[in-house]
Amino acid sequence: MIKKPRIESVELRRFRSLDTRTNLSVKEKSYYLNLEKGFQGEKIFDKWIESLKIDCLILNDLLFEQNNTFFQVDSLIILQDIIHFFEIKYFEGDYIIKNDEWHFLSGKEKEIKNPLLQLKRSASLLRRVLQDLGCHLPVEEHLIFVKPDFYLYQAPINLPIIFPSQIERFIDSMNKKSSNLTSYHSKLANQLLSLHVDESPFIRVPKYSFDQLKKGITCDKCKGFIDHYEKYFIVCPKCGHKENITSAVLRSIEEYCLLFPNKKLTTNSIQEWCKITSHKTIQRVLSTHFKQLGHGKSTYYIPNN
Ligand SMILES: [Zn+2]
Repeated sequence: MIKKPRIESVELRRFRSLDTRTNLSVKEKSYYLNLEKGFQGEKIFDKWIESLKIDCLILNDLLFEQNNTFFQVDSLIILQDIIHFFEIKYFEGDYIIKNDEWHFLSGKEKEIKNPLLQLKRSASLLRRVLQDLGCHLPVEEHLIFVKPDFYLYQAPINLPIIFPSQIERFIDSMNKKSSNLTSYHSKLANQLLSLHVDESPFIRVPKYSFDQLKKGITCDKCKGFIDHYEKYFIVCPKCGHKENITSAVLRSIEEYCLLFPNKKLTTNSIQEWCKITSHKTIQRVLSTHFKQLGHGKSTYYIPNN
């Protein structure tokens, strides 16, 4: 049972929007693309986990603070007698381990951060979190590589690694175990959830302002900018995707709120943001889907609940 589903992080969603509306530097773009890859990897992992039939509790994307140190947990699976901790990697290409150092081999060889050290560190912090909760279930940590074309040369056999070709067998072996969860386990999952920190200190979105960003409604399919609209629809000039105007405006409002959580939602600001739609349309969408506060020139909107 999924106790905490995985959702796209605010950081990733902001980067996606900034990538369309501004020019990211080479460094920012590469950081952003790594976030996309990371998320893609997690989705592949989640797909595999769907075939788990055993009684378990799954918690995704957790962030804990232990002794002033933050650490992330990609996935935690609580079984009756054990907790599995997964660090998910979407590495592609060839790598080699030389004296405990990891090197990327496809293209120009370069040393990368040893992912096993990060796994070890997070696992030991997680053990302390569990200890503080009075939980004595053992934790088994796994570094799982989900992209089929990943290859690691000279990997010793005793590493806590699951290679792409081993995932299916790993899931099979888990399914063969017996696990009967009790209220103890759900209480533990709830305690872990209550320790989860929502605001990540790792967010690295570049600075931006409303004036800097390219305005306009973007296509839901290809992210191209829409240059005009017909009465009830927008049609993408690039890919031809057709979308109802209300849903397109709502999407744009959501994006505005994601980028500017502290700015007031007003008809003027959203019209400037959407650019092509009429004042009347924006007002209709805002007053139908949001709660109106203030009046006259100082009218603004907040989410309905
Ligand atoms: Zn399009």
